[in-house]
Amino acid sequence: MTAQIQAVRGMNDLLPEDTAKWQQVEAVLRQNVRAFGYSEIRMPIVEKTPLFSRAIGEVTDVVEKEMYTFLDRQGESLSLRPEGTAGCVRACLEHNLLYNQEQRLWYMGPMFRHERPQKGRYRQFHQLGVEAFGLNGPDIDAEIILLSAAIFRQFGILDELDLQLNSLGTKEERLVYRAKLVEFLEQHLDVLDEDSKRRVKTNPLRVLDSKDERVQELLLDAPKLSDYLGEGSRAHFDTLRSLLEDAGLKYSLNDRLVRGLDYYNLTVFEWVTTALGAQGTVCGGGRYDGLVEELGGDATPAVGFGMGLERLVLLLSTLEKLKSQRQCEVYVMGQGEQVIRQQAKIAMQLRDALPGLRVLNHCGGGSFKRQFKRADKLQALFAVVLGEDELKQNLVTLKDLQHAENGQITCTLAEAIEKIRSQTC
Ligand code: ATP
Ligand code: MG
Repeated sequence: MTAQIQAVRGMNDLLPEDTAKWQQVEAVLRQNVRAFGYSEIRMPIVEKTPLFSRAIGEVTDVVEKEMYTFLDRQGESLSLRPEGTAGCVRACLEHNLLYNQEQRLWYMGPMFRHERPQKGRYRQFHQLGVEAFGLNGPDIDAEIILLSAAIFRQFGILDELDLQLNSLGTKEERLVYRAKLVEFLEQHLDVLDEDSKRRVKTNPLRVLDSKDERVQELLLDAPKLSDYLGEGSRAHFDTLRSLLEDAGLKYSLNDRLVRGLDYYNLTVFEWVTTALGAQGTVCGGGRYDGLVEELGGDATPAVGFGMGLERLVLLLSTLEKLKSQRQCEVYVMGQGEQVIRQQAKIAMQLRDALPGLRVLNHCGGGSFKRQFKRADKLQALFAVVLGEDELKQNLVTLKDLQHAENGQITCTLAEAIEKIRSQTC
């Protein structure tokens, strides 16, 4: 036998039972971004590598070790996108969407990172990305956060998630703080794990979100970024907090929250759950006022978030928030040579008369018992049963599968359609 070829490690198939869940989830996401007035943008999955190294930062985990980078046939370095913000900014600049304009945008699709696959962490995963450009006030930060909250509220999981909030201040404030932090860390190199030791030199703020317990303990005594924020940064943060409070949103302050990518300033936030083990961050975002300029545009304030859809679906499944989905409303079945010649036509008449309903035509013959079993498995609401004798008189039998007590009736196709319509619309 020929050996089978398996999928790439960390890249998942979504089977019909999964896609039924994903479609429910995606519908809620689309409904919410639409309700907030955001427009969809679609970017390619592959971009030129320097876009990501420049946007995300050379010394971040994503660029240092997680990118899928390859040379194309002309020898140009390309990468599968590890996140969407860089490509979104690139597209906006390329098509001049940011000149003197505000933009509220969203996108949804696969992202790629070469990480160690585990529950909630994959090499191909999906994000909903939301980005707002051209607005610098804390009001748009609040809007972005409230949009993410609206999604969680609609799923009934808002109480399962902790909104963590921090301010990274300005670049200048971070530089002063960075020097203080390095000074502190260098006095305690013996306590640091290898990764953190390396980061003291390359990206010291990332030491703050080290998972190492000894490092975490050490950090209790480290200088705090919040003590280095200037008046402007502080005012921005305070206003954001009161806007969230006015909206009745609970949050906790986490002064170690720095986020993995280099481009953030001022507001950063994450939605975290304890229900998924180590991979507890379902959504993360913040303000990135320097990025548009970094990528060659005019200075443009910007704020956004990325929501991890695998983690969201996992959480919703764990909390049993996703309903199992019926696969069709009407199941058409029949027996006998003459019937089978008519069956597909009748199914098509049903589809035409009942738009929006799924009408599945039984194929492959077999006993009525077997056909009814199939209809039950798909959770069909009605069976339209075609027998030789009825068909001769232009009649069909309609059975209400969810209410056995209603029994079955024999009627014209038009009457059957009316009955189905009256009970499904
Ligand atoms: P983590 O700290 O878990 O590695 P991150 O900070 O690298 O996350 P972001 O770059 O902020 O993640 O991406 C936003 C969201 O995308 C995350 O909060 C998470 O829900 C999801 N995500 C990131 N990486 C992965 C992955 N490898 N597999 C599945 N989901 C992911
Ligand atoms: Mg990561």
